[in-house]
Amino acid sequence: MENIKKILRKKQAIEIVNILNENGYRGIYADSLEEAKKIILNTIPLKSTIGLGGSVTINELDLIRIFKEGDYNLFDRYNQPDWPSTVQCMREALLADYFITSTNAISKNGELIQVDSGGNRVASLLYGPKNVIVVTGINKVVNTLEDGIERIKTYVAPLNSKRINHKTPCNLSGQCENCTTKQRICNYTSIIKNGERMGNRITVIVISEKVGY
Ligand code: SF4
Repeated sequence: MENIKKILRKKQAIEIVNILNENGYRGIYADSLEEAKKIILNTIPLKSTIGLGGSVTINELDLIRIFKEGDYNLFDRYNQPDWPSTVQCMREALLADYFITSTNAISKNGELIQVDSGGNRVASLLYGPKNVIVVTGINKVVNTLEDGIERIKTYVAPLNSKRINHKTPCNLSGQCENCTTKQRICNYTSIIKNGERMGNRITVIVISEKVGY
């Protein structure tokens, strides 16, 4: 039974990779997190400057440690002495050689949909870093753009709010209450409809497993 599920997940992941390639992204299939990690490390030349978007998937890939220990120049937003330095680090990452992040949803029309509290991730996806690598599990594939926004509102944002402990109503209730709190988790939305304009700038690695949320 597990084998059949894996075969179906693989088929679905390859379908979405094909859709992404038809829509101007560089879509790549990966069988596992480990394979995705190898693809990322084979793609990024040593000494590159690298920015990271906050993401459970990025944590699961253990990339922060790898980039800190390796011959890379990581904009380490997680290791700054105070908030102004963290903000400055995120600003500098806007001009990185590579920006690595996940997405909140991918539609079957090839749209990438993201929501941020602070905006650095959505900004980097849209413009700035020379190259963007998006890593995503098959669990983030939705049918339409509207389904993607619904997924974020009802599922991703409350979980993210809890993960980074923002004081929002959804952190407590687990559902969106359309708040206007200072620490609101969903202030900025980016929808990338097509990657063609900037050539192969955006690589999307689709893993045929559940990764992140
Ligand atoms: S609007 Fe407020 S309650 Fe709704 S998802 Fe965003 S942060 Fe949570």
